[in-house]
Amino acid sequence: MATRHHLLQKLPIDLKRLPLTDWKEIFDYLNIDPAIRDRVFRAVYHENTADLETIPEIPETDRNKLLEVATITRSDVHELVRSEDGSWKLTLRLHDGGLTEAVIIPEWSGGTLRKCSASISSQIGCFFGCSFCATGQMGFHRNLATGELVDQVREVEKAVRAKLDTGLTHLYFMGMGEPMNNYRAVSDALTIMRDPEAPGPAPSRITVSTVGLFRQIRMLALDHPEVRLAISIHSADQTTREQIMPVSAKLDLPSIREAMEFHHRRTGHAVTIQYLLMDGVNDRPDDARKLAGYLGALPAVVTLIMLNPVSASDYRRPEVQKMQAFRMILDTSGIPTDVRYCYGEDIEAGCGQLKIAADQKRVSMSMRHRHNMVPDHG
Ligand code: SF4
Repeated sequence: MATRHHLLQKLPIDLKRLPLTDWKEIFDYLNIDPAIRDRVFRAVYHENTADLETIPEIPETDRNKLLEVATITRSDVHELVRSEDGSWKLTLRLHDGGLTEAVIIPEWSGGTLRKCSASISSQIGCFFGCSFCATGQMGFHRNLATGELVDQVREVEKAVRAKLDTGLTHLYFMGMGEPMNNYRAVSDALTIMRDPEAPGPAPSRITVSTVGLFRQIRMLALDHPEVRLAISIHSADQTTREQIMPVSAKLDLPSIREAMEFHHRRTGHAVTIQYLLMDGVNDRPDDARKLAGYLGALPAVVTLIMLNPVSASDYRRPEVQKMQAFRMILDTSGIPTDVRYCYGEDIEAGCGQLKIAADQKRVSMSMRHRHNMVPDHG
């Protein structure tokens, strides 16, 4: 008996988990015409089909071949909760019962909706255990698959249309998890979203956030030069950074700086630097000077993130005067700044709050990191 293709050793394969590079290989192996492959791809990613039986215009023989080896999973809306501040938290139930979350933030100006952004998750939990981050405290459960990332975007868009009668203007990979630590799925999702028929805003309105995985920062610049980059620095002092973000021991600041330079050279975009101000930890004038020195002439915008005054973490929001003094030092160094406050605290969707309990059946509150909105440079 002929040996099965290595990608088909474990059946059924979930088409939504299949890396884009493997689609061609599988369909070629099954001897299915590329036009039919494209039809199936569109059905999965543009039309949200969850059933191979219902995809139209597929010859019966090809359909049967696919039914023998493949399946399509789906993510369903579990909950959509509105915060008093107008933001929304969308929880999706994944095919294996896991939960993932996205936050929707409409921004109004004089009664007019100016911008509507969403932040989606890339993993359930996270490996890196940053001390201010609820996701980090829950440990790592699993990566989200490409299809699960695209599902989040689609469901977020649907919710935005239903609730606000408008489209999604900006998308941030800043929910649970470290997107760059799930690079292949995130990159495939970005590739899919390049197609105007796929869900999601234009690539130039998509931002990927990272704690500084420098190899992946370079890959992102090469693979998706139109996509924007945000780096959670939180301290420009290596020792302090390692205390609050243990992964920093492997992600030294000079290497991150070089990767940001590379990204800027390749893409021409300014980098967003996210900096969560924590009282007595990283908010002193000396910390600001170090940050200014670290960034130097790099085209960057610093988003200073203010914790909610009442948070479940041990960290506290600094006095406004301290934030202003910090900001002034950056301003006088010629570094543009922006100050953001957390949204959705009352629904556990604020920056640093997304955390799904170990049983993955409920969402609980505690402080998470940077997952605030960053400024629009698009
Ligand atoms: S801050 Fe980001 S990288 Fe750190 S633990 Fe949280 S999700 Fe992971």
